[in-house]
Amino acid sequence: MTTVDLVALRDHLRPVAVALRERALAVDADPGALHALLDAGVLPYRQLGGFPPGYLDDPLRVRGVPVLVRTCVERAVVAETLAWGDASVVVGAPGPSMSGVVVDDLADDEQRDRFYRHVAQPRTWTFFGLTEPDRGSDAAALETAVVARGVPTGGATADGATEGGAAADDGSPGAVLRGHKKYVGNVARASLGVVFARHRPGPLGVGVYLVDTARPGFDAAPLVTTGMRAVQLGEVRLRDVPLRPEDTLGRHLSPSRRGLLGAVRTFNRLRPVVAALAVGVTQAALDYVRAARSSFLADERLMLETFDDRLHAARALVLQAARGADADAADGTLPAAAKATALDLAEEVTRAVPALLGPGARWEHPYLDKLVRDVPGLEMMEGTRTVQRLTLAQGWLQGRARHVELV
Ligand SMILES: Cc1cc2nc3c(=O)[nH]c(=O)nc-3n(C[C@H](O)[C@H](O)[C@H](O)COP(=O)(O)OP(=O)(O)OC[C@H]3O[C@@H](n4cnc5c(N)ncnc54)[C@H](O)[C@@H]3O)c2cc1C
Repeated sequence: MTTVDLVALRDHLRPVAVALRERALAVDADPGALHALLDAGVLPYRQLGGFPPGYLDDPLRVRGVPVLVRTCVERAVVAETLAWGDASVVVGAPGPSMSGVVVDDLADDEQRDRFYRHVAQPRTWTFFGLTEPDRGSDAAALETAVVARGVPTGGATADGATEGGAAADDGSPGAVLRGHKKYVGNVARASLGVVFARHRPGPLGVGVYLVDTARPGFDAAPLVTTGMRAVQLGEVRLRDVPLRPEDTLGRHLSPSRRGLLGAVRTFNRLRPVVAALAVGVTQAALDYVRAARSSFLADERLMLETFDDRLHAARALVLQAARGADADAADGTLPAAAKATALDLAEEVTRAVPALLGPGARWEHPYLDKLVRDVPGLEMMEGTRTVQRLTLAQGWLQGRARHVELV
């Protein structure tokens, strides 16, 4: 349970959100403008990055109390508050980001120190390499592989196993990463990150590897996107990128705790944060329309007030899911419910609100247009609502989260 005063944390970060809002359109027009935003010093990205104790001299202080932003609840509150200004900058900022969460879950002490010492340097981006062009984010079907150096494509994996063959240990000396990842945030400017790759067939055959992007064969480039543009989604071709045994995250854990199965905990911790971003975007859209128009017809007022009520409920569910993930990260039921609920609302609100500002609203109100474009990006991050509903249904059938209304 967190001891941080969440209301004070929100209040503390509100001016940061305002500063992000002021610069949101510049960053949307040119993601490179993120550098100018960082130069302006308005975003305390290192303090909000979730570093463990010992890696920052000057942690965030809220009413004098240090806040490390390490729990899912703290991350969700930070994400929601700042997303009111610009959700894409929250995800596109330098720092440990999503890989920090997987490192926290899987790394041993030496790996954790290697990661955080590196990322503590100013303006250091990280990446989280899961999604593939042909396999999406279905981690069980990954094509990116750890293979023995010199083995032709389709040959033996690093531990000597061919398709369906016997398995030994992964991350063996002489192993290389080979494959293609796509839609990976920040990858073209990252210097360190994690790659999900198969080292042998079967459910225990996916590993997570800590990789420096300066290694030979790591070839990343940005993609052009219509929304969440500060994230600078990219693709990376892994052309026999050398791996060392110490790159295998969770090498000290049993096979069932590391790799894909271990990373499920990470996804459960990240989903409430994406849901919180959607809550922040929804609040931004509702506040925007009320600021842009002084009076509403009765049915319009009713619609907005209904959205307010649903937003209140979604915010409570997201916090409940974040608390649940902090208490038991193995249970993804509430995080899935939170993400589906928050995205339903964000999509409905951002679609409904422009109509209240006239036929040319998206043209005349570019910030509103940006919110409309960002929501599909949030829908895709950490799995679509379809996938969340499947997780929620499984949890429900197994007797979990019975107190949550089905979405
Ligand atoms: C802003 C942004 C940032 C991202 N950052 C990263 C990152 O840093 N690293 C990374 O690896 N990836 C990242 N991604 C990619 C993202 O994680 C994936 O695109 C997302 O998880 C969806 O997975 P998918 O592409 O496999 O789509 P799928 O899950 O296959 O979904 C494709 C479509 O099929 C539908 N669908 C899926 N399953 C079912 C089913 N069982 N029944 C019916 N319909 C179904 C979905 O609803 C959807 O419409 C990012 C994406 C975005 C937009």
